[in-house]
Amino acid sequence: MSERDAVRQISDEDERLAVLERYDVLDTPPEEAFDRITRLTRQIFDVSISTVTLIDGHRQWFKSRQGVDVAETDLSQSLCHIAVVKGEPLIVEDALAHRTIQNHPAVIDGLKLRFYAGMPLRTPDGHVIGTLCAADTSPRAFSQRDQGILADLAQFVVSELELRTLAMTDALTGALSRRAFREEAARAIALARRHATELSVLMVDLDHFKLVNDTYGHQFGDRLLVEVVSTLRSNARQSDIIGRLGGEEFGLVLHQSSASAALEVAEKLRSAIAHLRIDHVDGAVGATISVGVAGLDRTTQDIDTLLERADAALYAAKSDGRNRCIRWETPATPIPGDVRRRVLKGGRIAFNGGRSTMDCTVRSLSDSGAGIDFISTADVPDRFKLLIMADDVSRACRVRVRGDRRIEVDFG
Ligand code: GH3
Ligand code: MG
Ligand code: MG
Repeated sequence: MSERDAVRQISDEDERLAVLERYDVLDTPPEEAFDRITRLTRQIFDVSISTVTLIDGHRQWFKSRQGVDVAETDLSQSLCHIAVVKGEPLIVEDALAHRTIQNHPAVIDGLKLRFYAGMPLRTPDGHVIGTLCAADTSPRAFSQRDQGILADLAQFVVSELELRTLAMTDALTGALSRRAFREEAARAIALARRHATELSVLMVDLDHFKLVNDTYGHQFGDRLLVEVVSTLRSNARQSDIIGRLGGEEFGLVLHQSSASAALEVAEKLRSAIAHLRIDHVDGAVGATISVGVAGLDRTTQDIDTLLERADAALYAAKSDGRNRCIRWETPATPIPGDVRRRVLKGGRIAFNGGRSTMDCTVRSLSDSGAGIDFISTADVPDRFKLLIMADDVSRACRVRVRGDRRIEVDFG
């Protein structure tokens, strides 16, 4: 191999690993979608072993395995590694009759394989990240037609991996999905706890975004969302985590950042968004955001508490007049149980002695009251019973503030 070829191979391998990393699948629990494929493979070819094997930098790791006891082995044990390096199917009908394979560790000890068929898992951008394989301890013939079937099954595996990444990110803005954000954030918090470093989260919500949609149309609203996320991204650090938690609501995790440092970042983001101008036929349109900030401390154990606090601060920023950043302060003010949490829960109100009902969405909630959205509040009486289905709670409510589509109520 020439030096240039060697260099190319190393950088190819780096790229391959970067692609594998993007799928974020290594060391994740078994999933039915992949297990179904290996079960099917075993059944179709009537073999004792089938795995979805991913080739990491130093090991083969099985996303799914039938007939294999271990979750991973080093590369020297791996026939799949050979298929990945070659980038083409490896078909060994009888290992003992195969010159280069007969002394392989997977043949002479380990699984003592005699038959092996490994089909590369080739990603849409052309990288081979592993194989779908069928194997057995007895030799077996494997026809061209069998190869075709195995190739189709391998394609299922890749599609499944692709689907997972789609679900990980929001299609419009490229921010992480809510689920992926929570997972990443939880991982970051565990890391910060272990190494006693600081960490903060921001909750960002666009101000009066409904009005933007109503005035300029939904499509323009979408464009604005894309611009906002790209502004958040370019003003945050590259390692910071950005997720889309709701329609026009975003979460950020700032590594190694105290709450007061995070408040400065939030202020920078707020100002950058406030300066944003997006072209529209009616002229340039701007936007503002409100931000809630919360930092990890001894009293926060998990991502949910941290997000709840950032959310309470965000709620305060909204009540204070929007286009501002507020940091969550340790109790006393406000009283813990009375912290308004912004929620999204299906609800129903009942009045007229239970004879009349209306569906609604509970948008904020505390021990003492709630903010509730309706299609129209015109027919909502001043007193009613609120049922929140998900929580299985029912509270007597008294209207405190009445808008066209939202009301604020006190309980009791
Ligand atoms: P506030 O300042 O209190 O946050 O007011 P708001 O109007 O932003 O708040 P609200 O949560 O009532 O409205 C959010 C709006 O965001 C309603 C919904 O139509 C819009 N929205 C949610 N997702 C999308 C989206 O993907 N694209 C567009 N264009 N609009 C969206
Ligand atoms: Mg909003
Ligand atoms: Mg919102």
